[in-house]
Amino acid sequence: MPDVGSAIFGGCAGCAAVGRPGGLVVATVRFEAVTKRYGNVSAVRSLNLICPQGEMLALLGPSGCGKSSTLKMVAGIEAVTEGEIYFDDRPVSALTPGARDIAMVFEDYALYPHLSARDNIAFPLSVRGVPAKTAAERVASVIDLLGLGGMAGDTVRDLSGGAQQRISIGRALVRDPELILFDEPLSHLDGDQKVQLRAEIKRLQQTAHLTSILVTHDQSEAIAMADRVAVMNDGVLQQVATPAELYARPANEFVANFIGEPPMNLLSATVEGEEGAPVLVGAGWQAPLNGGTETEVLRALRSGERLTVGIRPEHVAIAPPGAGPSGFEARVAAVEPRGDSDILTLQLGTERVTAEVDGPSRWRSGERARVALPAEALHLFCGECGHNLRRAA
Ligand code: ADP
Ligand code: MG
Repeated sequence: MPDVGSAIFGGCAGCAAVGRPGGLVVATVRFEAVTKRYGNVSAVRSLNLICPQGEMLALLGPSGCGKSSTLKMVAGIEAVTEGEIYFDDRPVSALTPGARDIAMVFEDYALYPHLSARDNIAFPLSVRGVPAKTAAERVASVIDLLGLGGMAGDTVRDLSGGAQQRISIGRALVRDPELILFDEPLSHLDGDQKVQLRAEIKRLQQTAHLTSILVTHDQSEAIAMADRVAVMNDGVLQQVATPAELYARPANEFVANFIGEPPMNLLSATVEGEEGAPVLVGAGWQAPLNGGTETEVLRALRSGERLTVGIRPEHVAIAPPGAGPSGFEARVAAVEPRGDSDILTLQLGTERVTAEVDGPSRWRSGERARVALPAEALHLFCGECGHNLRRAA
């Protein structure tokens, strides 16, 4: 096993960025048509996905969508029902969990409460028979890296949740694994600890150039930590992209609604008017599409076609009543101040639309307003399947 001191703590971030020193092979993880069934429950359906070497990939989606099952198949805790997982070009289904050289960090720490922080971190090395001197050096490096020096001798049960999770990360790192898997590692922590540890995990992952997969249901966690995010729903991969791409060009209505806070507004509309210059007509609003929409998308729209129209709250244009001819009349139904922004709930006919404006604003509940939905900011989703029509298939 390569020395953790040189592999993880080589000292130079530049070296770490071009590959881990010491000749260590870090696996790319590849899923090929991976399916997981428990009896007649399909937890993961024909998953094709790559986590490149040295990246952090997040699996994001609602509870029960198959994230943990995916992670457990990588670790070897659950068998693949169909398909194959590869580390680089090695199929791993036949390998036991022990032979995969993977570390896992769970939601609930899974530490030995009566042992000290130091002994918990040292545990994976002692069970593997690593010589005492080497083990002591590795443990000291990890303790140093995680800033656990002041509590190394403390019994784990006396420490805070944040400290316990840092210790369980130390225990995962001390083995110098090829791959590290995190399953909801921050779920039990409160606000401050969560934000602090999230930054710390990210820093560790980047300096050590660790290939890692993070399972989370929390979009802010995935966006803050991951290089790329794989959004899942009901066992099916919806989209894998950088956080910025997911936000700007969601593949479908599910991703559009799942990413972003407050969520994207989704409104039913019918296409009306001339071919090539259509107008979207909803219940109490309309938006001409010429100008801000790609020509081929406009050409493909048919009069009478039903769409779901998406617009992010910060893209809804709102002005005092009577401010110019564009847009339509609306009423401010609620104002939620958030400090640097105000979240407005607007009543447009029978629809409610959320708008985000710089705060504190002068908008008050009950006021009338002029609202426009700028064409360039509209996401157009197929009324049948939810696919984003402005995104190449
Ligand atoms: P997530 O981590 O996204 O919440 P899971 O992978 O844990 O989702 O679960 C996906 C689906 O598989 C759920 O419907 C869940 O009830 C089911 N499931 C998970 N583990 C088992 C199991 N050991 N036996 C039977 N069903 C399971
Ligand atoms: Mg889970």
